[in-house]
Amino acid sequence: MESQSIVRSRVRSLLRVCSVRPAAVVTLGPPQAALMSELERARNQMVDVQIVERGVRDPQVLAAMRTVPREVFVEPGLEEFAYDDEPLPIDEGQTISQPYIVARMIEAAELKSGERALEVGTGSGYGAAVMSRIAHEVYTIERYPTLSAQAQQRFDKLGYSNIRLRVGDGSHGWPEAAPFDAILVTAGTPEIPAALEEQLAIGGRLVIPVGDRLVGQTLRKIRRSGATTYEDDSLEAVRFVPLVGEDPSGRSSAPDSTL
Ligand code: SAM
Repeated sequence: MESQSIVRSRVRSLLRVCSVRPAAVVTLGPPQAALMSELERARNQMVDVQIVERGVRDPQVLAAMRTVPREVFVEPGLEEFAYDDEPLPIDEGQTISQPYIVARMIEAAELKSGERALEVGTGSGYGAAVMSRIAHEVYTIERYPTLSAQAQQRFDKLGYSNIRLRVGDGSHGWPEAAPFDAILVTAGTPEIPAALEEQLAIGGRLVIPVGDRLVGQTLRKIRRSGATTYEDDSLEAVRFVPLVGEDPSGRSSAPDSTL
């Protein structure tokens, strides 16, 4: 298999030739068609090397990751890095998550066709876009209006019409749309917000990074087993930007500008 840097350098040359953002390509001339096929090749390589090799097996997750064009969700000028094995900076000092962690979290949430999912932390919109290729409906909340508006534009451009966006503090969830079969939180929190547990359907799964960012966060999976009972599993160590909002005890967590 070709190295990531060879694929990236071909994408870079083609981006220069096309000198348009890939998402803006409507009629494909030969250079744009070559760029699209290079990006598709890079996307498949990302799935094979970064995701399948690390143990993600859910066929619906893998198919969704092969479908959504991550280059549409990165900042202009960073398209050549869209399939690298790392988070990338987006506006407001936030990040688009590493592809592997997006796949890992959706698999852990056991998201299936026909289900309804909530995401807290829209960011670029990439995670919600991947979920939307599996779920019936995705609800996503972001605290920055600019990021939410950009994500909406990307969904419109791609024709992803089953995603609802809201600006606000996602630690309160989206009570009017609850219950959810799956809830994914893409920012780290010291404690699990009670509202999110309460908005799970019976049998629903919440996947959330919990812990102190300096000491370490753990990805936790909470399954609602009954009206008042929950199963709690620790999955793996992770490192996310902080969830900035009211925590379960009503205190407000301080913003943290580091990535
Ligand atoms: N899922 C995103 C993607 O695919 O690009 C990555 C999200 S980024 C790691 C975490 C996001 O959570 C940031 O955009 C941040 O602004 C947002 N966030 C932090 N606290 C929040 C809160 N209380 N409510 C909603 N969004 C929040």
